[in-house]
Amino acid sequence: MENENKELNIILMGPPAAGKGTQSELIVKNFAVPHISTGDMFRAAISNKTPLGLKAQEYINAGLLVPDEVTIGLVEERLCQDDCKKGFLLDGFPRTIPQAEALDNMLAKFNRRINAVVLMTADDEVLTERITSRRVCPECGASYNINTKKPKVDGICDVCGHELIQRKDDNAEAFKVRLDAYAKQTFPIAEHYAKQNVLGKVDALQSIEEVFADIKKILLEAK
Ligand code: AMP
Repeated sequence: MENENKELNIILMGPPAAGKGTQSELIVKNFAVPHISTGDMFRAAISNKTPLGLKAQEYINAGLLVPDEVTIGLVEERLCQDDCKKGFLLDGFPRTIPQAEALDNMLAKFNRRINAVVLMTADDEVLTERITSRRVCPECGASYNINTKKPKVDGICDVCGHELIQRKDDNAEAFKVRLDAYAKQTFPIAEHYAKQNVLGKVDALQSIEEVFADIKKILLEAK
């Protein structure tokens, strides 16, 4: 592992379909941190029909953000677990300034802070094209693209053998709403963390390997 003795509290941010899921898999393989994706946690809650899932479902299907109080509580509970003691990778959280402030406060209670925020950048046109070709595994969360990151067997997950699906919110209408929510509510978070000197930008339109090489550099230099 690249971060033997260093605590790494990472946020991976970027517009929907920038490739955060794919890069998260690589980060987790190379750095000893658990992957915390609020989107995956919500989807698991929906498929298990838990009270949280029932609450989140309508927002998610419409491409809207789940209310802050629901999301913050979910993340706070997850970050208290033992595997997060030496670091974590947050993917899809924080997505609003109140979420970022709540995160900073919950870490400060334990004398901890975010040490790296990786911002993946890409323009909306390319992202809209990407979204229609994305396929995901509902079982293990692995993500594919039918043009650029094909599974070995058509329609089947390489990792667990489950049938791949297209996410309900990966349609043009919901995607527009998600891009808009990103621009208005999430992008300002980059500025919040730039002020803390922990923001690094990466061009998400490069190859998967090139994007990861840039991310690795940011994480190795994180203090
Ligand atoms: P993702 O898999 O990260 O694209 O998330 C899918 C959907 O889950 C989003 O479009 C939101 O509806 C919801 N969601 C995930 N993370 C958050 C968050 N931090 N705050 C609010 N809603 C979220």
